[in-house]
Amino acid sequence: MRQEAPGAPQERRQQIAGRLSAVRASIADEAQSCGRSADEVTLIVVTKTRPPSDIRILYDFGVRQVGENRDQEAAEKHAQCADLDLTWHFIGQLQTNKCASVVRYADVVHSVDRPRLVTALSRAVIQAGRNPLTALVQVNLDQDDHEAAGRGGVRPDAAPVLAEAIAQAQGLTLGGVMAVAPLGGDARAAFDRLREVSETITDGHPSATIISAGMSGDFAAAIHAGATHVRMGAAVLGDRPSVR
Ligand SMILES: *Cc1c(COP(=O)(O)O)cnc(C)c1O
Repeated sequence: MRQEAPGAPQERRQQIAGRLSAVRASIADEAQSCGRSADEVTLIVVTKTRPPSDIRILYDFGVRQVGENRDQEAAEKHAQCADLDLTWHFIGQLQTNKCASVVRYADVVHSVDRPRLVTALSRAVIQAGRNPLTALVQVNLDQDDHEAAGRGGVRPDAAPVLAEAIAQAQGLTLGGVMAVAPLGGDARAAFDRLREVSETITDGHPSATIISAGMSGDFAAAIHAGATHVRMGAAVLGDRPSVR
C-alpha cells in the first residue's frame, strides 16, 4: 500500500491550494470592501527560501507572479523553473555588482533606491541585450532617519527625482513605487503616504501606476491605500524557518 510521508508532495499541494484560495478570497474581500475590484490587485507570491517544487505547485494553481530577494537563490530557481511562464519580481536590497546577474532573470525590480543602481541596471540591461526592465522606486516610510538607515528605500521627498532618472535611463521602464511598512508603525498611514508619492510620480508619468505594498501581515491596509501589487509569502506558503 502506498502511503504519503508527512510533508510529501501531495500533502504540500493540498496545503498550498488551501492557503492560496484563502489568500485570494481575502484579497478580493478587502478590495471589495473599499470599492475596488479584485482584479485591480495582483498577488505576487514571495517564494524566497522555498524550493522550486513549491513554485511548480503554485504554477499549477495559476500563480504567474513570484518574488525573490536574493540574487543567487533567485538565479538558481529561475534556471530550475525555466520551462514555466512566470514573471519574476526582484524585491530585495540590491548591490550594483549583482545587477548583471539580476537582469538575466528579473522582469521587475522593486528595490531601486539610489541613482547608482539606476545606472548599473541600465548598463546591465543594455549589455544583456534584453527587453526593457521594469523598475520601481523603493520608498522608505520609516518615521525617523535612524530607523530608516539600512532598511533600503529613498525618502519620500526624493522619490520623484529618482523616478525621473529611471524614466530617462535606457533599458529601464518606470513602473511605479514600492514600500515596506515601517517597523511597528501605522501601516495604513504609511501606505497612504506611499500613495501620495505615487500620485506625484504619475502626474508626469501616467503609465507608472504600480504601487507595490503589503505583505502577509498588512496587505489589507495596503489594498485600502491603493496597492496594485501585494507581496505575500507566509500567508500562502507557511512560516519561513528563519526571518530573512
Ligand atoms: C519576505 C518579503 C515579503 C513577504 O513577506 P511575508 O510576511 O512572508 O508575506 C514581502 N516583501 C518583501 C520586500 C520581503 O522581503
